[in-house]
Amino acid sequence: MPELPEVETVRRALLPHLIGRRMLDVTAQVPKLRRPLNIAALRAACAGRRIRDLRRRGKYLVADLDGPDALLLHLGMTGAFVIRPDGQPPDRHQRVEWRLDDGQLWRFLDPRMFGLVEVCQPAAPDGWPDALTEMGPEPLSPEFDGRIFQRLTRGRACPVKHLLLDQHAVAGIGNIYASEACHRARIRPARPAATLTRPECNRLATSVKQIMEAAIRCGGTTINDFRSVDGSEGKFTASLEVYGRTGEPCHRCGAPHRVRREVSGGRASFFCPHCQK
Ligand SMILES: [Zn+2]
Repeated sequence: MPELPEVETVRRALLPHLIGRRMLDVTAQVPKLRRPLNIAALRAACAGRRIRDLRRRGKYLVADLDGPDALLLHLGMTGAFVIRPDGQPPDRHQRVEWRLDDGQLWRFLDPRMFGLVEVCQPAAPDGWPDALTEMGPEPLSPEFDGRIFQRLTRGRACPVKHLLLDQHAVAGIGNIYASEACHRARIRPARPAATLTRPECNRLATSVKQIMEAAIRCGGTTINDFRSVDGSEGKFTASLEVYGRTGEPCHRCGAPHRVRREVSGGRASFFCPHCQK
């Protein structure tokens, strides 16, 4: 499932194709994704409008238009955006298509249809739509640091990894990067959040930032489905230290210390029992 670095990769890849372009029309190939697709509202918001900006908040994208509305977009589990030349036959799993004024087709593909394409109205120009206002700080912002993270852990008996995955606590982190950040910070994912010391909170916040930055530089991580706009896979997959490496030696400790997989709250955590406390 795409997390912050994958969504940021898609955003950066789409920018040169979309900014300043006028949308001539939009069509939907299915009645619903995660929620029903309101094609009348989409057409009213998009047709004839220019795309001013494409912004990211957590795992969401917001396309700002030169009208009153914006587009709220989410890749869900298997969503992808592609750009095709005019006249190209529909893509497999194509769900929504915008025709742009330079002859390009901007398409949303989504085999499992958990994605989101909706019209929204940001409260202020360049503000975020209501759906995103409850979200925690962006991990790459200066606002997110060990002090803020420690405040989030207060009174929280849940595993620290659950806190990292809570979008109200911090935005954009999913299972892959939560596991990787805990390993880099030498903290066991199952540790009750409230037991983290200030130095550990500092280490974890720094680890989250370093891993997100490195993953963005690599164009994200591809485990199964993720592809950028040009079809390329995320290259951070080769840099994963624990995620998906069950039974393999810990890169920090070496053999005989091996990565262990534990399921909690229906999700797998990967960690090294030797160096993560
Ligand atoms: Zn280790």
